[in-house]
Amino acid sequence: MASDFSQLPLSTTLLDNLTTLGYLRMTPIQEQSLPPILKGRDLIAQAQTGSGKTLAFGLGVLTHLHVKTFRIQALLICPTRELASQVAAELRRMARTMHNIKVLELCGGTPMKKQVHSLSHEAHIIVGTPGRLLAHLERGTLSLEHLKTLVLDEADRMLDMGFYDDIAAIIGHAPTPRQTLLFSATFSEDIRTLAERFLHEAVEIDINETVPPAQIEQHFYRCNNTERHDALLKVLEHYQKARIMIFCNTKIACDTVAAALCYNDIDALAIHSDLEQFDRNETLILFANGSCSILVATDVAARGLDIDRVDLVINYELPHDNEVYTHRIGRTGRAGKEGISVSLCQDDEPLLQQITPQTLRALETLPQCHTYTLRAAMTTLFIGGGKKEKLRPGDIVGALTASADITADAIGDITVFDDYTYVALQKPLANTALKLLQEYPVKGRMFRVRHVHL
Ligand code: ADP
Ligand code: MG
Repeated sequence: MASDFSQLPLSTTLLDNLTTLGYLRMTPIQEQSLPPILKGRDLIAQAQTGSGKTLAFGLGVLTHLHVKTFRIQALLICPTRELASQVAAELRRMARTMHNIKVLELCGGTPMKKQVHSLSHEAHIIVGTPGRLLAHLERGTLSLEHLKTLVLDEADRMLDMGFYDDIAAIIGHAPTPRQTLLFSATFSEDIRTLAERFLHEAVEIDINETVPPAQIEQHFYRCNNTERHDALLKVLEHYQKARIMIFCNTKIACDTVAAALCYNDIDALAIHSDLEQFDRNETLILFANGSCSILVATDVAARGLDIDRVDLVINYELPHDNEVYTHRIGRTGRAGKEGISVSLCQDDEPLLQQITPQTLRALETLPQCHTYTLRAAMTTLFIGGGKKEKLRPGDIVGALTASADITADAIGDITVFDDYTYVALQKPLANTALKLLQEYPVKGRMFRVRHVHL
């Protein structure tokens, strides 16, 4: 039974903000982990993607923070830069009603020098990736002397990426006593070793046992390898959903599927680890802001990312392992909503035996695909200026609506990064908006602007 946050010993500032943000009831992981977290206990928690872990450790970190002490009191280690950014953004949202909390991101891909400069101005909370955090600790540009809380987010993924030694070395720089929180989607031997080595009398929580993905309808279609592509088009046409994730087992398959969909006038983008960080980020922005309808992903690229509101998950190929399968379909039906997953599979897939008895439907029951297309409603402009230029979403809305051609409701998400900004807007307005921004200054300055094509 879900219960509300007011039962917890949280400050009224935090409670009010949670209400404003629409977080009314705790998710199971929050319900089970927050009481021990707020008591200051160490914790090892197993929970799937989308279960609300960020809020669980975020509330702990913010509650234990001594705001007036402008020193690093919490360190959050994440496997990738995207995850670190998501966690940092979510923490800032949670802390927005608290006075002057500084959250700093330390990830690879950004110049060290810039980060060293930011560090010299101090921060309360650091969110980063293992390699870069360790580099700062070894150079002495980051000190954990005042650390109270250490969080390992997606620990299994960090170990999969070979970060065990880096993490151990980072923790070696952290003082004791401290609170250590470890979150992981799976509990492998390595995770246990990590926990035994660095956690102290930890409370153990396993959410996966108690919450099956009950609200996700799972459909399976019989399909051999030569039929896969046609099968995919049939499935897309039959289910007629707007936001879809397709999972493939390899990077090559991702690229091939995305290209084939685009060829069929279906807006799709592939995301996998061969893409540069910048392109991965851009792809996620386009999917999140509605400029792309379908994201074709590998498990590694997708894991842990908070990709919301997916109506349909398609397994272009079944994964080999049940846990991976559960992760994939968990992308839909998040936060208590209903979801559908469709898997294309052969008769003899070993995984089918593991996933409770399933009926394999025949593709022939789906209509023949002829004219189906899926075009995203939005498109995105890139602006070569961001937080550093003090650009805010309001400045861009102001510039775009200055002429009568564009109204504010035609503008979608505006995502501002340090050096650049993405603006989503209704597709037919792309050229008008592009011209406007190329001809008139925003905040008194001209910026480089381009249309981001899929
Ligand atoms: P995880 O880290 O476990 O994968 P996240 O922390 O990214 O999950 O949360 C997944 C989504 O659920 C986010 O969009 C978050 O804003 C939302 N969420 C988290 N907690 C709640 C809650 N108590 N009520 C409603 N939505 C929530
Ligand atoms: Mg997370």
